Amino acid sequence: MAKTVILGAGFAGQYAAIVLKDALKGKGNHEVVVVCPVTKFTFIPSLIWVGVGQMDVKKTQFDLLPVYKREGISFVHGLATEIHPDERYVIVEPKDGAGKDPVRVDYDYLINATGPHLNFAATPGLGPDGGYTQSICTPDHAEHTAKKYLELVKKLEKGERASVVVGTGHGTCTCQGAAFEFIAQIHNDLKDRGLRNQVDLKWISNEPQLGDFGIDGFETKMMMGSILFTANDMAEALYTEYNIQVQLRSHVSSVDEKFIHTEDVEGNINKIPYDFAMLIPQFKGKAIRYLDKDGNDLAGKLLNPAGFMKVDAVYGKPYPELDGPDWPKTYQNPLYKNMFAVGIAFAPPGPASKPMSTPSGAVVCPAPPRTGYTAELTAKAAALNIVDMIEGREISHTASMAETPGMCIASLKGSITSGSGCTIGIYPIVRDRKRYPEGNGRDMNATTLDMGLAGAWIKKGLHHAFLYKLSAKPMWKYMP
Ligand SMILES: Cc1cc2nc3c(=O)[nH]c(=O)nc-3n(C[C@H](O)[C@H](O)[C@H](O)COP(=O)(O)OP(=O)(O)OC[C@H]3O[C@@H](n4cnc5c(N)ncnc54)[C@H](O)[C@@H]3O)c2cc1C
Repeated sequence: MAKTVILGAGFAGQYAAIVLKDALKGKGNHEVVVVCPVTKFTFIPSLIWVGVGQMDVKKTQFDLLPVYKREGISFVHGLATEIHPDERYVIVEPKDGAGKDPVRVDYDYLINATGPHLNFAATPGLGPDGGYTQSICTPDHAEHTAKKYLELVKKLEKGERASVVVGTGHGTCTCQGAAFEFIAQIHNDLKDRGLRNQVDLKWISNEPQLGDFGIDGFETKMMMGSILFTANDMAEALYTEYNIQVQLRSHVSSVDEKFIHTEDVEGNINKIPYDFAMLIPQFKGKAIRYLDKDGNDLAGKLLNPAGFMKVDAVYGKPYPELDGPDWPKTYQNPLYKNMFAVGIAFAPPGPASKPMSTPSGAVVCPAPPRTGYTAELTAKAAALNIVDMIEGREISHTASMAETPGMCIASLKGSITSGSGCTIGIYPIVRDRKRYPEGNGRDMNATTLDMGLAGAWIKKGLHHAFLYKLSAKPMWKYMP
């Protein structure tokens, strides 16, 4: 009997758990255990609507425990704080009772799917907990953001003017796509309320250019022709139409009660006044200690400098030399072969977008996104590789970001009657310049962009489809 412990129940951990349990059916008495500090799954992409008060957070969630009971998956309600890979156990701080002692959970195989640590502390004054800005990265944050946003709306209704700033709160942020969706929701919500003219709306980002999204943008052929249309064209057109001021290539050095302090790569130092700001924090790996059998810290061997777990990528190459084959495929840790990291928890080999820095030395470089669909694909590969190992085979399942498609529906407005969204399909997610020299690293026949009401429908459809699939309802495994 083999015991697999999965840390986390987000897109990656939850999908890994149900795929692995399903794949092991009828193959012996193998155990799948999920360790997680929360008992609900949250469909994070819909928090963009929660943050403007258009969706109740409960509609983005389902309870994990009934799913685990039905599927025969064990659950430990707690936070993993230590991993001991030599002795194959995890230390978990229990969540279901104050004052309980940490518990030891042994494993044969481990999947780290703990997602990002939201590192607000990297930018003094950033974030809702002790800082001045809002966030939509967690359910609590999004609910708090909605409260603050609706307070702002009340002031605008009394005739006041306001400055609203949205974007990235550190030079090394990822998730520009989520911030882009959020600024679009704000624009359209204020427009529908007849308040848009009272607001100066500003976008601050660490991207080299608009539409970079941490994946070095994308290009697509216009329908029925060979005219190139880029993500940059799309974003510029939208920001112009929405009358959003733009500041790019910027690091946010600090935030105080009245101003956002930025420095850009050209050396411009700005003090941006704001009344409401939603800025994404830097992402780091979770604060989990990795200890060998003698108690020595393994972080230097197992983690990248940002604290994400190294897997089968080629690490250490400078940006101009990085190409598709350097991206991980199996998500297996090279030192401890029974350990995998998936979703946001794995360490990418480097950035997918051009790295820059400010004259004072702050790094300005979008980190590569590991989106929900990617998180699932990486989780599935790891889960099936564990099945290979349990059955004594070489691991055979891969999901490289240089060999898998990116599917992104960027919501501009959620309504299914008057809404809009950008439907983006790219292949592969990160450029493979040797394989696709003509498309600058992408297959131009498989990279598409469409904008309009259909995008709003698809986005809502995905909300329901993902919640259905991840709660392992009938036929879930036939859903892509
Ligand atoms: C506002 C927003 C909008 C987004 N929109 C989109 C979108 O439209 N499309 C898209 O594809 N992606 C989108 N993303 C990205 C998407 O949410 C992430 O790619 C996805 O959540 C990553 O999944 P994950 O499982 O790796 O991490 P997470 O979803 O962060 O899950 C991590 C899990 O680990 C648990 N955990 C944390 N620490 C520990 C610990 N120490 N021990 C055990 N468990 C732990 C957490 O409780 C959680 O259950 C968006 C992100 C944001 C913030």
